[in-house]
Amino acid sequence: VRSALRARERQYQIRDHLLLQERVEAALRESDQRKDDFLATLAHELRNPLAPLRTGLTVLGAIPSPDSRVPGVLGMMERQMGLMVRLIDDLLDVARISRGKIELVRKALDLREVVDAALEGCAPMIRAARHEVEIKLAAQPIWVEADRARLVQVLGNLIGNAAKYTPDAGRITVELRSRDGKAELSVSDTGVGIAPEMLSRVFDMYLQLQDGASRAQGGLGLGLWLVRRLVEMHEGTVTAHSPGLDAGSTFVMALPLLPVPAPWAPGARDAD
Ligand code: ADP
Repeated sequence: VRSALRARERQYQIRDHLLLQERVEAALRESDQRKDDFLATLAHELRNPLAPLRTGLTVLGAIPSPDSRVPGVLGMMERQMGLMVRLIDDLLDVARISRGKIELVRKALDLREVVDAALEGCAPMIRAARHEVEIKLAAQPIWVEADRARLVQVLGNLIGNAAKYTPDAGRITVELRSRDGKAELSVSDTGVGIAPEMLSRVFDMYLQLQDGASRAQGGLGLGLWLVRRLVEMHEGTVTAHSPGLDAGSTFVMALPLLPVPAPWAPGARDAD
């Protein structure tokens, strides 16, 4: 009888333990959900005032000023505002991805054109830091099936990081080619580099290698996490490479190439 009682008691203990575990997990899920919702609201609220502020700056820029310092100050404000918009958009995207709310709108694209658009977006930052940019694009179109805005964001992030983590007057090289059935894009810089043990971790959420005091530029450590998630949503890969600290870095993104039948290939005209 005693051993039967002990067995029953043990069963109750296990049941209580499982119930408690379930309750803790539900509470954690709820708190995660609340955090994601809060992040989304925070990002929206922070973003709302920025549109009229940017318009205001454009209006001010169009008014001639007798003071020669004005255009410089307005340019600086515009750049800082751009950085703020990027940070907030990253926050919004993280919240969207966590809630499974990002959908890609995919079309056939020539990646060369996406590279141009991303470089144009980063131009003010590159100019301000006096970096030299070398662009090596394939002579033929590099077709992929992708969400254009998302890819501009991904490349803008990689090129923006190259500019951000390279001391002034550095060199950024952007190369695009097709290799082994893949579109391969690399962004190299002559900047601060990455220690070997950190290479696989730079894509982690919230990770920043430089501490706040030594970081010249702000950031939340979300950019590369988003880059990897967005590239993976396109069935691609992204990797970080660096010979070591102060030796520059290279980020390589590979996407599946879209097979486009050459117009002269047998059968290609049958589709007409
Ligand atoms: P953030 O730039 O907002 O800090 P990211 O997710 O874009 O966040 O990058 C994470 C970290 O990876 C950065 O804080 C930086 O330490 C490192 N990193 C990213 N790109 C480079 C680069 N091109 N060269 C050196 N370090 C880099």
